[in-house]
Amino acid sequence: MSDWNLPWEGGCRCGQVRLRISAPPLLTMACHCTGCQKMTAGPYSLSIAIPSDGFAVTQGDPVIGGLHGASRHYFCPHCLSWLFTRPEAMDSFVNVRLTMLDKVAWMKPFVETWTREKLPWVTTPAMHSYETVPEFESYAGLLQEFADQAERPAG
Ligand SMILES: [Zn+2]
Ligand SMILES: [Zn+2]
Repeated sequence: MSDWNLPWEGGCRCGQVRLRISAPPLLTMACHCTGCQKMTAGPYSLSIAIPSDGFAVTQGDPVIGGLHGASRHYFCPHCLSWLFTRPEAMDSFVNVRLTMLDKVAWMKPFVETWTREKLPWVTTPAMHSYETVPEFESYAGLLQEFADQAERPAG
């Protein structure tokens, strides 16, 4: 259960920015917070945490958007798709927006966060739900469970 069939390619709506992922993902998440609702124009954001050294922008020049705060949200400069986030004070991984990858049908959110802000009709297949975010101490267990159990891409 270790064959992630890497590397993966992805990109924005217009194709100016292209991404490559070459390291196994750490976790997949759905975030129901109202900030993600606004930035995605949808009910929640979907992200896949990738170790920083396994993430590369291979084409184009993403720009900062969102709140322009300590967590940096990167967008395509032309079509303005939200591509990935570098979370505040966490340089070891990048949260890539799941739907930017070329092949996404096999991926499900493993964890969902901020359910206390979720739209009442929304459900996801996440194995773990949190009213806000997981306690810091529970991440190691979540990452291990994801590594052991998460579905792999087909061939
Ligand atoms: Zn674009
Ligand atoms: Zn959020």
